Amino acid sequence: MTDINSNEGRQPLPMQGIAQPTREEVLHLPRVHISAHPVMAHKMTMLRDIRTQPPEFYRLVKEIGALLAYEATAALALEACTIETPLKETQGYTLAGGIGITPILRAGLGLAEGFREVIPDAQIWHLGLRRDERTLQALEYYNQLPHKVDLQVCYAVDPMLATGGSAIDAVNILKRRGIRRISYIGIIAAPYGLLKLSQTHPDIDIYIAALDEVLNDIGYIVPGLGDAGDRQFGTF
Ligand code: URA
Repeated sequence: MTDINSNEGRQPLPMQGIAQPTREEVLHLPRVHISAHPVMAHKMTMLRDIRTQPPEFYRLVKEIGALLAYEATAALALEACTIETPLKETQGYTLAGGIGITPILRAGLGLAEGFREVIPDAQIWHLGLRRDERTLQALEYYNQLPHKVDLQVCYAVDPMLATGGSAIDAVNILKRRGIRRISYIGIIAAPYGLLKLSQTHPDIDIYIAALDEVLNDIGYIVPGLGDAGDRQFGTF
């Protein structure tokens, strides 16, 4: 497998000359779940299309977030309880423990909104990480994580898993806050960022809608969809 940490010298463009794994090399990583749902493929095609305007783009991000939430929450734990229907007493189930959603600002907002439609009781913990375009390192500028932490799982949501820097930092922050079970939720991953996140945090699950080919020299996912924040919020 490609050593993604090699060739990390100072480069004129941040990804220029950096070795990247192929799609095939990362396709079967443990705990990585790539959606195979036909409705997802249909929505992804509309999302990627350059003609899709911000209002429709935002709506699609939310819908994709709901589909990803449906897939990611399939592994949640339940607790048995007893309820009464209008006809008789019966056994039911409730989710065992709270759910947290951490949107990584600002591109994670639409995805988190879709997630929240599936789990309306979830707590939303905003985290602001900005990517330095020169070094591609993530810088924390906003943190609204609560002090009291009592969750079954926290989902870190950020649409584009490019170099993996923000995702790795977000998971580090959540782990430092005492969250034991964390999943990363993204729309598109590049093999480079997927491998890096999976190797750095082998104890998390990663759910994505699509795995693309490569990062270009400035760290954008190709074919990708462009800038997920700009396309959601119309800031071109
Ligand atoms: N962030 C984006 O919005 N798009 C990319 O392709 C990579 C990072």
